[in-house]
Amino acid sequence: MNDFPVISFADLQINPWIIRQCAAIGVKTPTSIQANCIPQILNGNDCIGAAKTGSGKTLAFALPIIQKLCEDPYGIFALILTPTRELAYQIADQFAVVGKVMNLKHCVIVGGMDMVTQGQELTKKPHIVVATPGRLADHLQSCNTFSLARIKYLVLDEADRLLGGHFDEQIKTIFQALPKKRQNLFFSATITDTLEKLKVVTGKEVFFYEAPAEVA
Ligand code: ADP
Ligand code: MG
Repeated sequence: MNDFPVISFADLQINPWIIRQCAAIGVKTPTSIQANCIPQILNGNDCIGAAKTGSGKTLAFALPIIQKLCEDPYGIFALILTPTRELAYQIADQFAVVGKVMNLKHCVIVGGMDMVTQGQELTKKPHIVVATPGRLADHLQSCNTFSLARIKYLVLDEADRLLGGHFDEQIKTIFQALPKKRQNLFFSATITDTLEKLKVVTGKEVFFYEAPAEVA
């Protein structure tokens, strides 16, 4: 017997049209990380969320970002950084599927692709940019035809891997191009010391949620 009330996406104040898109891809009931982080993100809070791989962290940030984007569709709205090309494409796919009916424009900025074509994509003012740090830093250093100065959301996906040292220089270059006033969303499978420090780094109250380990 389970006495916990089942939380729905409607309970989390997600718009009906987004709920319909989710249902069409089999996403009907929020996972624990989604139920806990979505209301905080919609409320304008910074957020650190940890839950194991496969627990739905992407939609935990993608759904509230898409919902807010409908209210303010100007310029590059959200920047998602992730450590690998494969993850970047997976994240972009989830934005594309849910955002299809609102003509959401996104672009993926990763290594191994033509810089010129990517640069052109960036100048078209996509709503969502999903990038690996190295390639985005290359674009920031080599051209000035796009701006990240108006982004509202910065997401660090797999944040503990991004902040582990390897990407430090590139992340620094990117952070310098971002506006100070923005919402910071950090998601990770594991909580490390670096992530703990983020609570302090953002300089304001950060909502922190760690999903409980599942009982086998
Ligand atoms: P991770 O936590 O590792 O980032 P993902 O966000 O990539 O996990 O989600 C893994 C898979 O679970 C995806 O295919 C996604 O569509 C699916 N998923 C996400 N949220 C739900 C949900 N609430 N119900 C069912 N499936 C979901
Ligand atoms: Mg993920």
